[in-house]
Amino acid sequence: MAKTSEKEVLNFQAETKQLLDLMIHSLYSNKEIFLRELISNASDAIDKLRYEALTKPDLVQEGEEFHIRIDASKSPRQLVISDNGIGMNKSELMENLGTIAHSGTKELLEKMKSAKDEKTSADLIGQFGVGFYSAFMVADEVTVLTRRAGETEAWLWQSKGDGTYSIEPAQKNSHGTTITLKLKPVEPENGIEDYTDFYVISRIVKRYSDFIQYPIKMRHEVEEPVRDKDGKITDKTEKIVKDEVLNSMKPIWVRKPSEVSEEEYTEFYKHIAHDWHDPLLHFSIHAEGILEYHALLFIPSQRPYDLFFATYEPGLRLYAKRVLIMDRCKELLPNYLRFVQGVVDSADLSLNVSREMLQQDRQLSAIRKRIVKKILDELKKLKEKDFDKYLTFWNEFGVVLKEGYGEDYENKDKLAELFLFQTTADKEKLFSLPEIVSRMKTEEDSIYYILGNSRKTLESSPHIEHLVKEGKEVLLLTDPVDDFLMQHLHEYEGKKFVPADRIEAESKETDKDEGESSHKDFLAFLKENLKDFVDEVKISSRLVSSPARLVREGGGMSPQLEKLLKQHGQGIPSLKPSLEINPNHEVIQKAEALLEKDKNSDKVKKLPQLLLGYAYLAEGRELPDPIEFNKALIAIMQDAL
Ligand code: ADP
Repeated sequence: MAKTSEKEVLNFQAETKQLLDLMIHSLYSNKEIFLRELISNASDAIDKLRYEALTKPDLVQEGEEFHIRIDASKSPRQLVISDNGIGMNKSELMENLGTIAHSGTKELLEKMKSAKDEKTSADLIGQFGVGFYSAFMVADEVTVLTRRAGETEAWLWQSKGDGTYSIEPAQKNSHGTTITLKLKPVEPENGIEDYTDFYVISRIVKRYSDFIQYPIKMRHEVEEPVRDKDGKITDKTEKIVKDEVLNSMKPIWVRKPSEVSEEEYTEFYKHIAHDWHDPLLHFSIHAEGILEYHALLFIPSQRPYDLFFATYEPGLRLYAKRVLIMDRCKELLPNYLRFVQGVVDSADLSLNVSREMLQQDRQLSAIRKRIVKKILDELKKLKEKDFDKYLTFWNEFGVVLKEGYGEDYENKDKLAELFLFQTTADKEKLFSLPEIVSRMKTEEDSIYYILGNSRKTLESSPHIEHLVKEGKEVLLLTDPVDDFLMQHLHEYEGKKFVPADRIEAESKETDKDEGESSHKDFLAFLKENLKDFVDEVKISSRLVSSPARLVREGGGMSPQLEKLLKQHGQGIPSLKPSLEINPNHEVIQKAEALLEKDKNSDKVKKLPQLLLGYAYLAEGRELPDPIEFNKALIAIMQDAL
């Protein structure tokens, strides 16, 4: 293929264009963070080159110092950020700065467009972490001059953020990337400060990027007193230009926690997590002895929008002696803690360890074990010390944590203590198992629960009325994942978990027989008419205010799971339930009387379908035969009106 030496003008991917529009017109006031984003990218690019150079030393010159440089000019008003990192070739440039790779972009953009106020919209921008594109908040035009390490061609990318960008071949003496921003006019009321001012830049760098491992340099013109030939200070001054390093460069995870400010932790989190929100919690591990490593871990305050997508990339940053060897090492976290962000820096790992080797690495699995324990311990502490904050955590990540009970046998008891549940004890509050158990009488040995689609359905479920009447607390489980959780969670502190919809009538045999025999005809009538749907029809001693309920022996399926499987087109095992009847209910008593009077009454014939339908709807399930149910319903309505 012939090389193009011409300038090409290309359209941004549709989503990118929309995102740029939103960025440019954004009311997001904290515009100075564009610098944090560009420095963060520059630092990542150096990390990448440093790592590649471990196996290809020719990529860097001997003695080359990695650095990030900022140059400002007042006329024309522009800001230049350059790095000597990995750089990009043409296809990388088009891929990285022409499209947005994130899945879920469309959904996010929709949300952003319909966001009502500035805060929500800014929040969404933050959630997305639109890195490079944030430059367009402060610049009318952005150019990127870049050369991939190991290649000779350089490329110039240019855009006004108006839907198109251009790419053309260019000259660049060394590898790396130089980004030039043609700055918008200073407009403090709109959050645009004078980004050509040394002190403004220096403050922004200190604030957001102090921990960056490479020096961030900027030239600074200072006026200094002139010295005479003996070195003594005179009255005269002169202007000299100095190269200053703006950041302290200390890896934050190595420093003593007491010497690192909250703000520094926050900014570091934003750098590694690509999240614009403050984290909820952070904690460190400094391990010494046989295995030496530092770990700094963060719990985000919001669920990333793609946490449940297959494309979500979990993992911690893995360093070996301060060199980044893997951006997202997923071997360090179990799946149910995939929302945790952080850094692990080991003194013992080899620098050129491969992904395959990592999977079997003993040190790594020992580190992982300790990390998991630490996270669970810190969450427990949070739950005890600051329950409100724990609730924030739980609302964002509780569903993910629940996945862990069946996966992590070793830590299942710790996990069980972290779970929170809705129960019949309070309409608003969530309770943990230790609390629920503490309210139980010592002789009680069952924790009752019921699974369903909504709290409202569950609260009025026929299955729990007798329990509530007896003053028992029932867990109301509405997360789809609860079904899987309850398949593993059998016992807590010696109390067994018992599904309320599977407790069978267990009245004394004699009573039962009496009960059954005095209603023999009615039960037989129902059974005959519902034989395609139910296995048995019985008298219930448990129903209080409902006329009927369905009981499934053994492993019946919850409404959520049933719905989920149906949605995925999977067949559902058709075990017929039993129908239990409440002989004390007015409707049942009237129906029995009617049946006795006239076996062939039209009204009576409608009853079986209606009772069956009632029982299904009360559980929040789909009707087994909606057509017949509706026919019966209409007939009854006609009679009633
Ligand atoms: P993110 O950093 O979240 O991936 P960005 O939009 O900020 O998203 O950047 C997109 C991609 O462009 C980066 O992932 C990186 O591959 C590339 N990139 C950006 N800046 C640089 C740079 N200074 N040097 C090399 N590559 C860069």
